[in-house]
Amino acid sequence: MSYETDITIIGAGVIGLGIAAQVANGKREVYVLEKNETFGQETSSRNSEVIHAGIYYPEDSLKARMCTEGNAMLYELCEKHGIGYKRLGKIIVAADETEVSDLEMLLRRGKRNGVLDLRMLSTRELKEVEPNVKGIAAIFSPSTGILDSYALMTYFIQRAKDGGAEIAYKSRVVGIEKIGDGYRVTMEDGFSFTTLVLINSAGLHSDGIAELVGIDASRAGYKLHYGKGEYFSVGHGKNRLVKRLIYPVPPKREDVGIHVTLDLEGRMRLGPNLRYVDRIDYAVDDSQRQAFYNSAIRLLPFLEYNDLEPEMAGIRPQLQQPGGDFRDFVIRHEYDRGLPGFINLIGIDSPGLTASPAIARYVGGMVDEILFC
Ligand SMILES: Cc1cc2nc3c(=O)[nH]c(=O)nc-3n(C[C@H](O)[C@H](O)[C@H](O)COP(=O)(O)OP(=O)(O)OC[C@H]3O[C@@H](n4cnc5c(N)ncnc54)[C@H](O)[C@@H]3O)c2cc1C
Repeated sequence: MSYETDITIIGAGVIGLGIAAQVANGKREVYVLEKNETFGQETSSRNSEVIHAGIYYPEDSLKARMCTEGNAMLYELCEKHGIGYKRLGKIIVAADETEVSDLEMLLRRGKRNGVLDLRMLSTRELKEVEPNVKGIAAIFSPSTGILDSYALMTYFIQRAKDGGAEIAYKSRVVGIEKIGDGYRVTMEDGFSFTTLVLINSAGLHSDGIAELVGIDASRAGYKLHYGKGEYFSVGHGKNRLVKRLIYPVPPKREDVGIHVTLDLEGRMRLGPNLRYVDRIDYAVDDSQRQAFYNSAIRLLPFLEYNDLEPEMAGIRPQLQQPGGDFRDFVIRHEYDRGLPGFINLIGIDSPGLTASPAIARYVGGMVDEILFC
């Protein structure tokens, strides 16, 4: 049977676009389908834009591997293609003695993950590098940074288009049917076409896309939870009082804690928190301001309540349940479910932005195997 396209990718976030850039090589028909009017309108433009080093994730997890690989790849891409970035560095601070053993555990985990430039700072060294931050010890991560995620997505689009890929906006996928070795994909307006390879990178809706092809998302462990993350901007010139990203010791297993990020213009914000919600709604709840303040003041004594203003929110597509065990990225060719050529990417929460070029390379390898065998 012949198919109208070789590869179809659902979702024009940083993951779908990275994959499109990777697989479009001038010889394959590649389509990206996006329900919104343009790219990157969901999680990929509602995050901290941090290039993570890969400290927090369990050894041998895909998150650890994709993050450390993605970190190195991103700095190289940014440098080579003029994508805005700053290698600011990050400090994880123990506010008191009770947090020091957790800090040491994080240092060991980070090193096991291959983040070899991590080092411990004493109280004195912390005072030297960040004189306005209060704490008794800290980890310094020089390879953590920030980037312009819009510019990264624009670069992926250009590379995908140079390789012959097309992006169709206002194209919501509502039906998928397995036919022969491939799939028939149906759009909201009734238009349908066939594809040999189908890649699900639909972010917050990726569990729903898996169900369209007949996978029981709950039984497969693919059901997503919405982990809302809100941000408060910090005004009154307080951004001049820190130079790096400042994180607390993680308060919970699934949460790295409310931290300080800086953007490329030097603006400072606090966040994100983690609140499980039932629906996608990006409003920032001002009643969270006190909790943000209480959490941040432990490390940043110069903050005043009125410095904080509600800014924006994003929603993590989380496989991990509230209080549940760690869940890794699902990046899987589903041939053993009787779905050859169908690749699922589910639960691509943080560090998905950092990992995006490494995930793209990994999925590119799967696609090559499908098309060449
Ligand atoms: C608060 C927060 C902070 C974060 N901070 C960081 C960070 O600092 N560093 C980091 O590395 N990562 C961070 N992340 C994670 C990172 O943002 C995500 O991992 C990444 O953006 C996921 O990209 P994506 O392409 O999978 O999803 P998305 O950007 O959500 O893209 C999915 C796309 O699929 C489309 N789509 C869905 N359903 C359909 C359909 N039926 N038909 C057609 N199109 C469809 C959507 O419209 C959307 O455009 C953060 C996430 C959050 C929420």
